[in-house]
Amino acid sequence: MHKRYLVTGGAGFIGSHLIDSLLQAGAEVVCIDAFHDYYDPSRKRANVGRHLVHDRYRLVEADIRDAGRMRSLVAEHRPEVIVHLAARAGVRASIQEPYLYQEVNVGGTLNLLEAARCAGVKKFINASSSSVYGENPKIPFAETDALLCPTSPYAASKLSAEALVHVYARQYGFTAASLRFFTVYGPRQRPDMAISKFSSLMLRGKPIEIYGDGTARRDFTYVEDIVRGIRLAADVEFCGHQLFNLGCAEPVKLTELVDELERALAIKAERLYGPTQPGDVPLTYSDISKARRILGYVPQVSLRQGLQRFARSLSDQAQLHSLPPQSLPLAFEPAQMAL
Ligand code: NAD
Repeated sequence: MHKRYLVTGGAGFIGSHLIDSLLQAGAEVVCIDAFHDYYDPSRKRANVGRHLVHDRYRLVEADIRDAGRMRSLVAEHRPEVIVHLAARAGVRASIQEPYLYQEVNVGGTLNLLEAARCAGVKKFINASSSSVYGENPKIPFAETDALLCPTSPYAASKLSAEALVHVYARQYGFTAASLRFFTVYGPRQRPDMAISKFSSLMLRGKPIEIYGDGTARRDFTYVEDIVRGIRLAADVEFCGHQLFNLGCAEPVKLTELVDELERALAIKAERLYGPTQPGDVPLTYSDISKARRILGYVPQVSLRQGLQRFARSLSDQAQLHSLPPQSLPLAFEPAQMAL
């Protein structure tokens, strides 16, 4: 039987891929998004454009900080599953605007949980982040590790949101999961993220700036694997609130990432090295054995394959608009780039 989903942040990068997959599988989807201008909202309009043609899709423009609106929307649509992805993302920006991150990522999550409680929603899937591990000295990062090392207000907000989900699942008996995503990439990636940003610069023949000496490592995870993980968390039965790492479990040095990106785009990058940025961590590395055991989650896309797909999507996008790839929009300055 097809489920009814309510997806917050469904106009964004991961949310729009999730909704592609849900609609293709025959589900009904209500998307809530505020089309926030953290990056160009026209990208988000384009993301939802592909969904608006479906009669099983409904778009609601609303802010998750509006508790009353969230309560009435969830009561009206009575979803079986809420997938809560809406958030202010970005580690460095959170250092500039800590209150905003608290209001959206913590206050917004509480509003959705209250709405879910009032409407008797059975399952709540919460988007968390590898950033909750911060400077965790133990590798690979496991869900059972004590988390005392977050390095940014963003990381702290995600940790607080997890705690709220835990309380609600325990108090009110719904099943919930907080999924700790590890650096997600793929077509339509947020323009402040390294792969998106580097490729825009490389296509223009401009130098890229690598923060630190390039030895920082990230567990890059292709968006289709993340979508599979979210859907498994929605479908598989388990008890209470569970934490799951969704990563690729293969951390890659930034310099190696650039090597692979050069191969995928067939362009040599001019590399500049800058200071490490506040809030950055030296390594993210997921232990995915719990997600594998309970959800059956197995990442399927290697970094090389994922970057090739990403590069293809850039050239398809350019062809669609009859443009050379280098004229695709560049929305962020390097100073705002996130890993
Ligand atoms: P995104 O910015 O593309 O998507 C987030 C969406 O939330 C946007 O469409 C935005 O308009 C919406 N939003 C923001 N504030 C809102 C508000 N107040 N009310 C309603 N909607 C609002 O980001 P993404 O990369 O797709 O991330 C999705 C989720 O995954 C976030 O919770 C993020 O913290 C988490 N995450 C992402 C990554 C990654 O690598 N992309 C890694 C770890 C965790």
